[in-house]
Amino acid sequence: MTTHDCVIVGAGIHGLCTAFWLHRRGVRRLCVVDQFDPGHDRGSSHGATRITRCLYQDPDLVQLARRANEHGWPALEAAMGRPLRLPTPGVFFGPGDGPLADYLTATAHHRDRTEVLDGERAGHRFPLLRIPVDDTALVDHTAAVLLAAATMQGLRAWLADRGVELRWHTRVHGFTASDHGVRMQLGDGQELHAGRAVLAAGAWLPQLVPATAPLTVLRQQVGYFDVDAATSDCRAGAFPVWARIGRGANDFVYGLPDVEGSGLKAAVHRTEGAHVDPDAAAEPVDEPALLALGRASFTAPVRRLLGTERCLYTMAAGQRLAVARAPGTAALVTITACSGHAFKFGPVLGERAAALASDEA
Ligand SMILES: Cc1cc2nc3c(=O)[nH]c(=O)nc-3n(C[C@H](O)[C@H](O)[C@H](O)COP(=O)(O)OP(=O)(O)OC[C@H]3O[C@@H](n4cnc5c(N)ncnc54)[C@H](O)[C@@H]3O)c2cc1C
Repeated sequence: MTTHDCVIVGAGIHGLCTAFWLHRRGVRRLCVVDQFDPGHDRGSSHGATRITRCLYQDPDLVQLARRANEHGWPALEAAMGRPLRLPTPGVFFGPGDGPLADYLTATAHHRDRTEVLDGERAGHRFPLLRIPVDDTALVDHTAAVLLAAATMQGLRAWLADRGVELRWHTRVHGFTASDHGVRMQLGDGQELHAGRAVLAAGAWLPQLVPATAPLTVLRQQVGYFDVDAATSDCRAGAFPVWARIGRGANDFVYGLPDVEGSGLKAAVHRTEGAHVDPDAAAEPVDEPALLALGRASFTAPVRRLLGTERCLYTMAAGQRLAVARAPGTAALVTITACSGHAFKFGPVLGERAAALASDEA
């Protein structure tokens, strides 16, 4: 007995965007299940903001980011009847002969939207950021702050208003899939049967599909800083989304403007480290380390930490993004997309997953 046309496991950005596009395709008996509550902070999609940019070290990702910015996000904004992005310059800087060189090469054909500056000029343009004069800077005029929390809330409301079932506190423990459909085992012996299923389970995907290519789950910590500067200078439009790209792994710091009094956001983009169990309790945030990071990043004095956040990266080899049918069955689609940079791609990866789950070639 098939109860749903499609069940989506995971109500993070990728699961919700998949449900959005499936509904847009006329699929009606839809259910999104999540083991936690709406807006929980145990996975990767919580928090007020994210960066979108076309600055990437891979031309394919530059193209995908442009498609997200020119097609994906406008589709969500039109559906929700509100902006989900705050345009602001993006500036990536670092030693010109370091990893930044790949970004320069990959965006060479996008100079209509990007600009190269030396560190001194970049420091003049973004005076609140500590930009070494010997660095090279790449400015992205397509960048923006993504209003992540508003996007997640908006998608949940949009789906609920259209009769999509959103099941919270419902963990999928296992499933069997055949070309005829998918049976999912939930807690307390319940089952869900669906013609198709999409697994957008983030850091928990290997628990459901052990054959998944190896993923490393890394915990991140984020700080929100109160700096001694005019509020207007810290807001989107005046203050950029930014990243300092050093030479080594984890030598990558990024940040975002103040949004509605949040303070300036900054964190290390930790892409290497020991794997953590996503179900394990998080260790406390290292506030002194975050304060030191703020002081090293901003030219204005940091008065205090306004807030902190923990979050998970699910690292794939080469930071690859993958949306694919599970081997051997047309009924199951998996989304492996994080590596600390996939929120911006949600609207286009979700569209892809919806196409595959609708049996599109
Ligand atoms: C600190 C931080 C900063 C970031 N900054 C940026 C940025 O600036 N720009 C950008 O583009 N990206 C950024 N990212 C990355 C981006 O946020 C993630 O790639 C994206 O949110 C991943 O979404 P997801 O839907 O795949 O995973 P998740 O949001 O983790 O969703 C997976 C969901 O599946 C549920 N689930 C898992 N297993 C089960 C099960 N068995 N049963 C039921 N439910 C289950 C989980 O509860 C979870 O809600 C950042 C990430 C972090 C952590």
